[in-house]
Amino acid sequence: MTVDVGAAYPTRVRQALADDALRAALDRATEHLRGRRAQALAGVDATRLRDEAHAVRRYAIEHLPDLLEQLEGNLIANGCQVHWARDAAEALGVVLEIAHQNHVKDVVKSKSMVTEEIGLNDALQRSGIDVVETDLGEFIIQLAGEPPSHIITPVIHKRLEDISEIFQTKLDTPPTDQPAELCDTARRALRSEFLIADMGISGCNFAIAETGTICIVTNEGNGRMVTSLPRVYVAIAGIEKVVRSVEDAVLLWQAASRNATGQDVSVYFSMSSGPRRRGDSDGPDEMHVILIDNGRSRILERRYGDATLCIRCGACINICPVYREIGGHAYGRTPYSGPIGAVITPLLEYDIRPARDLPFASSLCGACRDVCPVKIDLPRLLLDLRSDIVERRAAPIAERVGMRVYSTALRRPAPYRALARLARRLGRLAALLPPLKRWARTREPPRFAAKSFATLWRERGRRPGEGAAE
Ligand code: SF4
Repeated sequence: MTVDVGAAYPTRVRQALADDALRAALDRATEHLRGRRAQALAGVDATRLRDEAHAVRRYAIEHLPDLLEQLEGNLIANGCQVHWARDAAEALGVVLEIAHQNHVKDVVKSKSMVTEEIGLNDALQRSGIDVVETDLGEFIIQLAGEPPSHIITPVIHKRLEDISEIFQTKLDTPPTDQPAELCDTARRALRSEFLIADMGISGCNFAIAETGTICIVTNEGNGRMVTSLPRVYVAIAGIEKVVRSVEDAVLLWQAASRNATGQDVSVYFSMSSGPRRRGDSDGPDEMHVILIDNGRSRILERRYGDATLCIRCGACINICPVYREIGGHAYGRTPYSGPIGAVITPLLEYDIRPARDLPFASSLCGACRDVCPVKIDLPRLLLDLRSDIVERRAAPIAERVGMRVYSTALRRPAPYRALARLARRLGRLAALLPPLKRWARTREPPRFAAKSFATLWRERGRRPGEGAAE
């Protein structure tokens, strides 16, 4: 990994832009995903699907307290144990307590961004519990010791030869350029992990309130193994994942699949409605569901509530011209990258400061809004966040002072004229001065006109306030 996720944002971006292999991998993969999405949507009434998906998500968010209560009641009636977690620390505490009570030594996981969000793997490993990612992409990056760089395709930043190299080093396999051989190797390595695991942990794509069911969308079948083979199963769901009915979940499954990977539907849709019952041939002895807030209520209370409509399809990421150049690691430690990541990362963080650069990592071209299957107006949310950052004084001090001087000058004719004269004299050299130097590092400084508009106006014999029509 060439990007240091712990470095400052400008450093991360420079590191990403300097990595030609990374950019080639991103280009190839996002183009492929965009092509598949276009094909998948060409076969259906895409506008109607979008309207319906938006309505279903809007209903869920507007009725969140009632649906969560209904979900809890039905999960308990199905034999599940339900836990509420206000934040990451509480969720981790619950998982570790369940693991401790059940003498768990080995955990298998299916891909889940909420578990990345709360740092679950580190917490388990610190407690002496082995945890293995079973989604192929997550398995690869776990071997590489890297965080995911995309919510749907976590290993999007790697080329085939990179993956072959990781397998050679970590699994002692011969070099290969055959994807099928790499898959076989992973399958063999994972099978034994499934068989020894005491606990399976998954995220949740949809939690159905009226039946008390946790749904997971996968393409590899690993999700079903995680939820049914180990004796204890723990599902961790953000509170916004609740939906009203099976029909609503199925509709969102179709919308997510077409927009994420360009499939009519994903290969697997695993529904878990409780532990093994008398007469069942398989299933866990215990099923726990952790409903986690971790900042989501705060998002809903403020003007960013629409961000919770997201079904994590990744379409906005694949279309984003910024993401396509820098990839997911340039967004920092967050598992959420691209436009949706730039919105929710600063909001999920209690303090906006650690992620204050992310809302500016957008050209505001609007492509993300146009592809979003649940019609989230991402550019508006990004603009609102930018203004919040300024209002909350979260911007760097040099920027705040500079903008204050600029706004004072703009409101008074004499300082404005003095500043304009200075800018014309200095021309592009102004960009070398310390306050502008950093800004100009990644931008083309503007060319100042030889004469101001006011001067030209005066030269034409006009006085201020006269009409311009000629
Ligand atoms: S914001 Fe929209 S396009 Fe982006 S991941 Fe969420 S649902 Fe998909």
